[in-house]
Amino acid sequence: MRVLVIEDEPRLNRQLEVALAEAGYAVDVAYDGEEGHYLGDTEPYDVVILDLGLPKMDGLSVLEQWRRDGRKMPVLILTARDRWSDKVAGIDAGADDYVAKPFHIEEVLARVRALVRRAKGHASSELECGPVRLDTKSARVTYNGNPVKLTSHEFRLLSYLMHNEGRVISRTELVEHLYDQHFDRDSNTIEVFIGRLRKKLPGGLIKTMRGLGYVMAAPESTESDDAKAAKKDG
Ligand code: CA
Repeated sequence: MRVLVIEDEPRLNRQLEVALAEAGYAVDVAYDGEEGHYLGDTEPYDVVILDLGLPKMDGLSVLEQWRRDGRKMPVLILTARDRWSDKVAGIDAGADDYVAKPFHIEEVLARVRALVRRAKGHASSELECGPVRLDTKSARVTYNGNPVKLTSHEFRLLSYLMHNEGRVISRTELVEHLYDQHFDRDSNTIEVFIGRLRKKLPGGLIKTMRGLGYVMAAPESTESDDAKAAKKDG
């Protein structure tokens, strides 16, 4: 999952960037509204953390402009503790949630997880695909109940596939959602990570759709789809 942080206070920006990166997100940062608006307009983010008080272009205008242009990514706004009117204006402008300053970083992380989950249609913080379970809260993965050790890149990839279970995802989409803007993007590395995931999580859960990309699905659901197709044909 890829996150954009727009916050002009350097220390706070850095704190958010580090915490999100440690939690397994690819993170891009901006320090003013103009730069932030541009990034959100041109890059595909899974969630944006947007401060309202920003130089060059205020957060509310950034948000309004995105929504007017049809940008639908989930946006979490950062507001001043005592400004209830900011929260109302922010939500009216198209924010999905807010956190008041000063905040505990854990609260921001929990709200980010929830926004990503809901945007992908998941209610629970634990994702399941056949024998694989992924706890988005603890970032732990099990296979048939046994813990599986993944590197941060493997986890990022698995998390994206599981959040989008059953949907074919192109290599380009994976690259765009797994790496930040400064990462040296080589889409071949995706294939390497897919291969490693398949070894650690066997059973044909991650399928290659030739020329299209990858899809992760539990074997049962694929079978029932095949059965349905067979019935339809026959
Ligand atoms: Ca600010």
